Amino acid sequence: MTVLLLGGTAEARALAALLVDADVAVVSSLAGRVRRPRLPMGEVRVGGFGGVDGLADYLREHSVDAVVDATHPFAAVISGNAHAACAATGTPLLRLERPGWDPVPGWNVVDDSAAAAALTARLGSRPFLTVGRQGLDAYVEPLAEHAALVRVVDPPEIALPASWTVLEDRGPYELDGERALMLEHGADVLVTKDSGGRWTRAKLDAAADLGLPVVVVRRPPVPPGMLVVRTAVEAAAWVHELAQPPRSPR
Ligand code: NAP
Repeated sequence: MTVLLLGGTAEARALAALLVDADVAVVSSLAGRVRRPRLPMGEVRVGGFGGVDGLADYLREHSVDAVVDATHPFAAVISGNAHAACAATGTPLLRLERPGWDPVPGWNVVDDSAAAAALTARLGSRPFLTVGRQGLDAYVEPLAEHAALVRVVDPPEIALPASWTVLEDRGPYELDGERALMLEHGADVLVTKDSGGRWTRAKLDAAADLGLPVVVVRRPPVPPGMLVVRTAVEAAAWVHELAQPPRSPR
C-alpha cells in the first residue's frame, strides 16, 4: 500500500511517523515554500505537482493507493486539487485537519484577509499580525500608516510599508514570551487566522490577558463530501482499514 501524505503541518509529521512505524509506504509531500522545513520521517518529495492534472498524473504514475491531505487549514488550493485529482483517479482521500480554536466571546471573526485588514485598521494603530507570509499583501494598503509588527517564518517576498517591523520566528510559543512581545511592541490589536492547535495558541491567551481586541480569519470551507478526521491517530486507523484485504463473503 502506498500513501501520499500532503503535508507541511505538525499533524502530517505525526501521521508520517505513525505510518513509518507501521511499515506503510508513505511519501510526504511539501510545497517547498519554507527555507528550512521541519522534515517528517520517511520519504519526502518537495514542490508542486502542476495543478489537478499534475497531481492526478502523479497518483497514477506512482500507483498511489490512498491520499491523506494533512495540509494547513488555510491551504485551500492544494486541498481542492487533491479532492479533484482523487475523484478523477478513483483514489481514496482523507482530510486530516486539526480543530479550530474555540472562539472566545469578543473575538472579531471575519471571512477573509481583506475583511480582517479593514477591521484591524479601525481597531488599532499598532497591530500584531500573525497571518503568515503569503496572506500579507491584503494588509499592506489598509495598514500602510500603521506601526504593524509582522511575525513570519521566512522573510516576506513583497515590499512592506516602512512603518512595519518584521520579526522572523517560528513557534511553538509560550504565554510569557507572547505577552512580553506584545507589551514591548505596544500592540493594540492581534490579528490571526483560525489555524487551531497548541503551538500558536499562546498569543490568544496573551491578548486576552492584556485586554487586546483580537481579529480572527475564519477557515475556508473543506471541499464538499470530504471525509475529515481531527487527529493523526484517526488518520492512521483509516489507512490501516484501507490496507485490510477485503473480507470474503460467507
Ligand atoms: P495552497 O495555496 O493551498 O497551494 C498552492 C500551490 O502550492 C498548490 O496548487 C500546489 O502547487 C502547491 N502545494 C501546496 N501544498 C503542497 C504540498 N503539500 N505538496 C506539494 N505541493 C503543494 O498552499 P499554501 O497555503 O501556500 O501552503 C503551502 C504549504 O504550506 C502547504 O503544504 C501547507 O500545509 C503549508 N502551510 C500553509 C500555511 C498557510 O497558512 N496557508 C501555514 C502553515 C503551513 P501545484 O498546483 O503545482 O501542485
